[in-house]
Amino acid sequence: MLPLGITPYYASLIDPEDPEQAIRRTKIPTMAEFERSGDECEDPLGEDAHSPLPGLVHTYPDKVLFLVTDFCATYCRYCTRARMVGGGEFLPEKKMWERALDYIREHTEIRDVLLSGGDPLILADERLEWILTRLREIPHVEFLRIGTKVPAVLPYRITDGLLDILKKVHPLFFSIHFTHPDELTPEVRTACNRLADAGIPLGGQTVLLKGVNDDPEVMKRLNLGLLRVRCKPYYLHQCDPIQGSAHFRTSVAAGQEIIRSLHGHTTGYAVPTYMVDTAGGGGKVPVGPGYVRERDGDYLVLRNYRGEVTRYWDPGESDE
Ligand SMILES: *Cc1c(COP(=O)(O)O)cnc(C)c1O
Repeated sequence: MLPLGITPYYASLIDPEDPEQAIRRTKIPTMAEFERSGDECEDPLGEDAHSPLPGLVHTYPDKVLFLVTDFCATYCRYCTRARMVGGGEFLPEKKMWERALDYIREHTEIRDVLLSGGDPLILADERLEWILTRLREIPHVEFLRIGTKVPAVLPYRITDGLLDILKKVHPLFFSIHFTHPDELTPEVRTACNRLADAGIPLGGQTVLLKGVNDDPEVMKRLNLGLLRVRCKPYYLHQCDPIQGSAHFRTSVAAGQEIIRSLHGHTTGYAVPTYMVDTAGGGGKVPVGPGYVRERDGDYLVLRNYRGEVTRYWDPGESDE
């Protein structure tokens, strides 16, 4: 159903003997992918409905998702774009990119362009440079970011030549997809440090996966490990209900418990925002645990990280 592709580097981290190994489960197909459950669909986020042209998703007012290729260096079994990746549906070609660039030029409200796919870093340096410099020439595009898993699955891609290109288009942020602390090898740490040294702020994006990282201890190791390579855990994503993903999905309560286990118990920078992406282009909704229990007259009743209830005097506002 979903293409299989794993870099030799990442394959070297996979345990051939243990089918339950966390990172193995995220890459090697199993029969569970053929099971269907009620709420699953091909395009759970309704991206296609918010796609003004191939390769562009414009869901939010001032930012667009620019899908520059549908290929990845390594395919994740829970991919939110399983419907389109790896099929060559849009080959990375300039004609398609030109049309997307025209759209961004015409829509002056777009100040944030997120390159994703597929994985933008599978493109050759010259092609990536072509896209990035054209985006940089658009006056209203203030903020560029690249969503990628390449630093985790192909750390050798972070070459001097690539960094020279990236440095020229600042401000450029990276959102790097990490799943498990086992991914933080010396090679990956070097790749992240090189990106950070090039002045690129790094954010971590993690999908919450049953039996892979739905454990407070694993998530703490991952997030603290990311901070050590200057990557700030940005979002923890609830696994999207793509077809054949039931074996990966946890309850939202499980994700809230993980956030609760981090907040206050360790460095605040290590606590990502927990997000559910909603159907039909409703967008991302933060669903982290609430710490405001109720309003009691002029007081807010709060619960702290230790579970203690305190009252905060907050007169005047009586809603929520
Ligand atoms: C997630 C997403 C973005 C980026 O959202 P941020 O909250 O700014 O990180 C932009 N466009 C689409 C369609 C998205 O799904």
